[in-house]
Amino acid sequence: MNKVVVLGGGIGGVETAIALKKEGFNVELISDRESLFVYPISIWIPTGEKDINEVQIPLEEIAKARGFDLTIDRVIEINGKESSFTLEKEGKRTDFDYLVVALGQSKLKHKGIENTLSVCGSPEEILQIKEKIDELVKNKKGKIAFGFGGNPEAPEAVRGGPVFEVMFNVHNYLKKIGIRENFEITFFAPMPKPGARLGEKALKMMDMMFKNMGINKITGKKIKEFTQNSVIFEDDSSIEADLIIFTPAGDGHPVIKNSDLTKTEAGFLKIEDTCQVIGFDNIYAVGDSASIEGPEWRAKQGHLAEVMGRVTAHNIAVKEGKKIEALKGYKEHINIMCLMDTGNGGALAYRSDSKAMLIPLPVVGHWMKKGWGIYYRLYKLGKIPRLI
Ligand SMILES: Cc1cc2nc3c(=O)[nH]c(=O)nc-3n(C[C@H](O)[C@H](O)[C@H](O)COP(=O)(O)OP(=O)(O)OC[C@H]3O[C@@H](n4cnc5c(N)ncnc54)[C@H](O)[C@@H]3O)c2cc1C
Repeated sequence: MNKVVVLGGGIGGVETAIALKKEGFNVELISDRESLFVYPISIWIPTGEKDINEVQIPLEEIAKARGFDLTIDRVIEINGKESSFTLEKEGKRTDFDYLVVALGQSKLKHKGIENTLSVCGSPEEILQIKEKIDELVKNKKGKIAFGFGGNPEAPEAVRGGPVFEVMFNVHNYLKKIGIRENFEITFFAPMPKPGARLGEKALKMMDMMFKNMGINKITGKKIKEFTQNSVIFEDDSSIEADLIIFTPAGDGHPVIKNSDLTKTEAGFLKIEDTCQVIGFDNIYAVGDSASIEGPEWRAKQGHLAEVMGRVTAHNIAVKEGKKIEALKGYKEHINIMCLMDTGNGGALAYRSDSKAMLIPLPVVGHWMKKGWGIYYRLYKLGKIPRLI
């Protein structure tokens, strides 16, 4: 039986392992985290609506339910030409027929970034945000700045959705506990129209939401640096803040940057439509580690990472003669689909070549996202079939 090793136990890697197992491969998943961190529902940790344990699914439980092997270790090197990878504890490994890279992405480093916290970081970082918000709530006043950055070399690696979600949730949380008027919330981003990939109508609706929620907005100004209590822009104007919640744009994973695999300037793996890494017959890449090619509004998303995992499993099975079918591609599945939560409701953001919409879903949107979280856990643990 052919052996496939999947590097990275996140949203893309886990779905790839599940799909490969269904195709009848011998699968090993290697990750540096013990759990699958379900990022889309981690947005509720800062306001205490979800506990960290509700947002993590132990990889051991998924592996047991889905029948793949699990190794917890850190990948420190990949050598494509030699067909090997190296783990921190176990050392060099060559015992595989196919390798799937699903290590996620890193972030660009801005000057003074250590003075900020990101909603798209590690589980530990999101807990730090919760602690800081708890402190401000205890003091019953504060200034919070929320923002995200861009990467001109990888426009699809900008992650703004979760920043908006946490900001709207914090607004509604402060309102609910009756202290919103003592807080100043400011949103900032270097691009003139952050969120533009969702279309003009969505931008107008977001503007209205900012106004209704009393959120200040500073956009179109490049960020010079962050200090302990301020965001400083290129024209030396600044935002004073007790807490700076900032998500830089994605950057290539250091292991990929240091590898001999085919990659873009920004350090994302260059792949064919089949998800095979260009020039390497037995190496595939899924999710945020890969450079996504397609329309200018494209974005790295969890649902696309999962599609890429299933496409990869299918194509390896075809290559190995397990089934006689055509190869599949990921590009036809590129769209933006996000249930943007506001804490008291939500909005369905959708973008494809023919449509750009943001449909308000008061109250029900919030519960739909909560329901998705429950479905996701049950599906990964093999308790219910895949619905979406
Ligand atoms: C807060 C937030 C909210 C989001 N909301 C949505 C949403 O609503 N809808 C949507 O579609 N997408 C959403 N996304 C995007 C989505 O989460 C990502 O696109 C998705 O997680 C990408 O999957 P991945 O497997 O490529 O990377 P990840 O999920 O980041 O997984 C990478 C894995 O690799 C492991 N790893 C990293 N380095 C190493 C190493 N050296 N050795 C071993 N293991 C390693 C990590 O621990 C991790 O488990 C959101 C993202 C964030 C951050």
